[in-house]
Amino acid sequence: MSEKKSVVDLVDVSMNYHSREGETQAVSGINLSVGVGEFVSVVGPSGCGKSTILSLIAGLIAPTTGRVEVAGRVGYMFQRDQLFPWRTILNNVLLGLEIQKNKSDEAIKHAHQMLEKYGLGDFKNHRPKELSGGMRQRAALIRTLAARPKILLLDEPFSALDYQTRLSVSDEVGGIIAAEGVTAILVTHDISEAIALSGRVVVLSKRPASVINIHKIEFEKEFDTPTARRKSPKFPEYFERIWKEMREDE
Ligand code: ADP
Ligand code: MG
Repeated sequence: MSEKKSVVDLVDVSMNYHSREGETQAVSGINLSVGVGEFVSVVGPSGCGKSTILSLIAGLIAPTTGRVEVAGRVGYMFQRDQLFPWRTILNNVLLGLEIQKNKSDEAIKHAHQMLEKYGLGDFKNHRPKELSGGMRQRAALIRTLAARPKILLLDEPFSALDYQTRLSVSDEVGGIIAAEGVTAILVTHDISEAIALSGRVVVLSKRPASVINIHKIEFEKEFDTPTARRKSPKFPEYFERIWKEMREDE
């Protein structure tokens, strides 16, 4: 077996929130390693602790017990595209570089190249409201990737889009992530989306989130894009297995 270097390691991670109302245990005893270039999805019911896990990986919060190890810069993409309406698409994309104080000629050139490559070249000087929801999510992704993260965290990035758009945008985003070779962790409550996009699907219990199972997702060569996967006979089999696990936990 080939030794694959991991870029994210969660070791026995638990996390409790403290507030005036008391203590909420959000995460319980999670172990997970994500390898370089892997695309891992995390599915679980609403409120189970998915976003908390991403916040832990991003270093925004610390675990109550256990260890979180992350090797490399993290980029974060949220449900809403979070583009600034008064900035052009280009200036939105360059924002990440500004914050990093890395507006080198090379970095700017790379941002332009990604906008061209991923179909937004003609929209650089447009404002976000002039773009479709799907194009805005693509712009948000390019902004995140322009900062050259090693690890991309996606928190239900398609859930605000209508069903048809969600399918095509998740396809596009999956393609961009694969082309850029970045390690990705996608949190979603949509089992189909997880199966269509990932190499592994982590199934979480209801709160406090613990790992129920981790599924390796493999499709034949002719079914290896998100759209094609949805048409594969293996797709409903994976769906059924994961859905059952989640339902049995209810
Ligand atoms: P998910 O993303 O799976 O919907 P979250 O990770 O957002 O779930 O939340 C898990 C649990 O932790 C929920 O019960 C939520 O109310 C609680 N929670 C989330 N953030 C905080 C916070 N900052 N303070 C207190 N409780 C929180
Ligand atoms: Mg969430």
